[in-house]
Formats: sequence, C-alpha cells, structure tokens
Amino acid sequence: MIVLPREKSVREAMLTAAVCRGFFEYKNELIRVQQGLVGEYYVDRQWDDMQLNTPYFLLHDFQTSKHQIDTIFLCPKFLLILEIKNITGIIEIDNTTHQFTRKLKDGSVQGFRNPLNQAQRHQRMLEQYIRTLPIVYVVVLAHPKTIIERIPPNAPIIHSSGLESYVRDLLASHHPCLTNDQLEQLLQQLLQMRVSVKPKLNIDASLMRRGVLCNQCAAQMYYKHGNFICLDCILKDDGTLLQQALSDYYLLVDEWISNEQFRTFLGINSIHAAKRLLKKLELPYVGEKRFRKYRILWKC
Ligand SMILES: [Zn+2]
Repeated sequence: MIVLPREKSVREAMLTAAVCRGFFEYKNELIRVQQGLVGEYYVDRQWDDMQLNTPYFLLHDFQTSKHQIDTIFLCPKFLLILEIKNITGIIEIDNTTHQFTRKLKDGSVQGFRNPLNQAQRHQRMLEQYIRTLPIVYVVVLAHPKTIIERIPPNAPIIHSSGLESYVRDLLASHHPCLTNDQLEQLLQQLLQMRVSVKPKLNIDASLMRRGVLCNQCAAQMYYKHGNFICLDCILKDDGTLLQQALSDYYLLVDEWISNEQFRTFLGINSIHAAKRLLKKLELPYVGEKRFRKYRILWKC
C-alpha cells in the first residue's frame, strides 16, 4: 500500500523556473534532477504487480530536515531503504576510496556521490529512532542499460528488474518482528518524522527575467486592457501564463508579493490596474493600503 505517493518535485519546478528566468547555470542540474525523477518513477512501477504475501507500506520521497530517502518499504519483518540511481554507462565503486564513477562510451569518466554511503547515512539516522526491526538498504539502478563493472563484494546494488526477487529473498530470510498494530504505530512514527523543506537557490532575484512570458516565443507579454498579450505571436493569455509567472515568483523570490512588486515583476504601469488584477486573482492578503501583501498560492 502506498502511503506517501511521489509528488511533483519542488526542486525540479524551482530549477525549471530558474532556467526560464535566465539563470542558465542551473540547466545541467535541472537535467540531472529530471533524469533522477524519470528513474524514480520507473522503479516505482516495479511495485505495481508484486503481489507480496505480507502487509507493507511504501513511502516515496521521505524527507526529514537532513535526509531525503527515495523510497521506504516497511513491513513487519524489516524496513528497506531504496536509493534509486538513474545513471547510464559503466559504473564502478572503489572498495578502498569509496569513489563512485561512471564511464561513458567515449571513455570519459565522471564521479558521483557514492550511493552506498548515502543509503548507509539514511540507515544510521533511522536506526536512532527505530530499534524494533532491522533496517536494510539497497541501491537500485533504474536504467536497464547501466553496466555494473566493479563494486565492493556483497554490496547491495541491483537493477530495477531484480527488485522483486530481492524483496522476496529478504522476506524469506527475515522473521516477523512486529504485529500489524505495531507496524501501524511505526508507520505513524515515521510520518511524524517528516519535514518538508522548501529548497532554495542562491540566485540574485534582481537579475531575474521579468514578466508574463509567452509560451510560444518566450517574449515578455504586454499588459493591455486587462490582458497579457504577446505582440509577436498575437497571443492572448487566458490566465495560465500569468499563473506560471506568479509560480516562478513564488519559487524564486517569495510567496508574498506587494502591489509594487507585482507591477515591477509583471510590467504593469498603473497601480489601480494592478489592484484590479490582484483582486481578480483572489489571492489571500494581509495588511492594509500600501502595506498590503498578497500570498501566492502554489501547488505542485
Ligand atoms: Zn510570443
């Protein structure tokens, strides 16, 4: 049973907003995050047809203030941490240095954070709180073409296609430690440990590209008679692109915006026109007159 579904990544939304708003230095990070998400969704699907003969809970993207665990599988016999990697090429982990490298066809070699060390860190954290059942971990390679060349002996690294048999082997080699009620209690304990931390990018908001951006030519749209219009494409925004712009502001600057900030960001000259538009958007607000601030609502 999935208790925590994998939600849209705030980090991905934030990096996408940054790149759209002119901070191109985040492009590579965005690609890496997106590849990681594709891998996570791919591995998530492996659970669909497993038909395991035990009650279990799946918690995807489990976050505390210092840990982000891709998936937790909780059952009465053990808790399994999944560290998911979507990396192509030939991978190696040096037993002595713990260095994790990936070699591509063209011979280039890149280093990454060692996923075994990452998973062990999560394991140590959970072991501080949970003493009633064993906590184990596995690194799952999402990409079917990744070649595992050299890893420490018995290192728990598998391809996603092997996840089912890996879990079945674990179930066969462990005894139940918890009753169903205790399992439910432990689940609640885990859910209470969660903290969602809004990621932050170190950007200079004054350098951000402003405006409602046309989704066809990316030009800044002009505000005229209550509508945002792209003069090049003769495209009129139905409100979607304005929402997108406000979402970018939320992600990159702040969730609160004043009338003046709203005008500066969107290129609206009239204070009254901005006020009318803000009213139409029905944003919650605090404060009166020039101290009024509107709260941008953002959903992932
Ligand atoms: Zn346009």
